[in-house]
Amino acid sequence: MITVGIDVGGTKIAGALVSETGEILMSLKVPTPADSTEELIEAVVSMVNELRADREIKAVGVAIAGFIDAARSEVIYSPNLSLRNEPLKAKLEAKLGVDVFVENDANAAGWAEYRFGAGQGSKHMMMITIGTGVGGAIVANGELFRGGFGIGAELGHANFIRDGKLCGCGQHGCLEKYASGTALLEAAKELAASGTAEGARLAELEAEVDELTGTQVYQAITESDPGALRLLNELGENIGKAVASLVAILDPQMLVVGGGLSVAGELLLKPIRNAFLEHLPARGYRPEMTIVTAALINDAGVVGAADLARTHSLER
Ligand SMILES: [Zn+2]
Repeated sequence: MITVGIDVGGTKIAGALVSETGEILMSLKVPTPADSTEELIEAVVSMVNELRADREIKAVGVAIAGFIDAARSEVIYSPNLSLRNEPLKAKLEAKLGVDVFVENDANAAGWAEYRFGAGQGSKHMMMITIGTGVGGAIVANGELFRGGFGIGAELGHANFIRDGKLCGCGQHGCLEKYASGTALLEAAKELAASGTAEGARLAELEAEVDELTGTQVYQAITESDPGALRLLNELGENIGKAVASLVAILDPQMLVVGGGLSVAGELLLKPIRNAFLEHLPARGYRPEMTIVTAALINDAGVVGAADLARTHSLER
């Protein structure tokens, strides 16, 4: 059964026709109308219509950054969009005339990795996404873990540093403040401004563009700049340490590392693995999970949303 998967991000909406083996048959992208819920819904509706054309589609999955209620129908809160307690499922179903399944974007991405990507074969899998923020998904016994109210697996908001930096969620010291792409960029800007030899290359790159962005930081990393590598290393150590605590609770067989920063590959995985093993409780007496990078990266959200919509529709 071919379904449609839509991934609503803070800046763009991506959509695709997806086969039941996770293959993308056609894809589209438009900017997100982030300030208007009605315009956002219209954008999703016209994207679905364009994707399905004359084909009969039974289900549409929509992945969205935010809290989705336990019934997978309402977007309770989306930090970067205008959606608040929005009955998205009902509104889209009325306009589209098909089953709509709404899922948190990190959950959808984790599901895609489990079904078709790096997590295949591990029925107990954890995914951590390192991008603008830090997100997560947990697959337990072959099912997405969502918690009692639908909003579990927010791994980025596990407390990491007591009385640490203020997070967008209102708490202090969340992992996200120490291990996201945003945190890496902030640290790189500080290092560039430090006037030290270690920050010299970052300062040079910054001078070329006025303001440092992830592109220059990544360039410094690929050039093996010692300053940028140290920051990436520290970020990886923070992730590894946090993951070791999560493993004590969840005991997964595999960790899939996704999100924009996962393009750093082994440069990121190595410090994660080392810190994970260093902080693993009862190390030597428990099997050690595999740590790999995500396989689907940019397509994970749409593929996961489409597959969740398909499985959910088949169950009904
Ligand atoms: Zn937080």
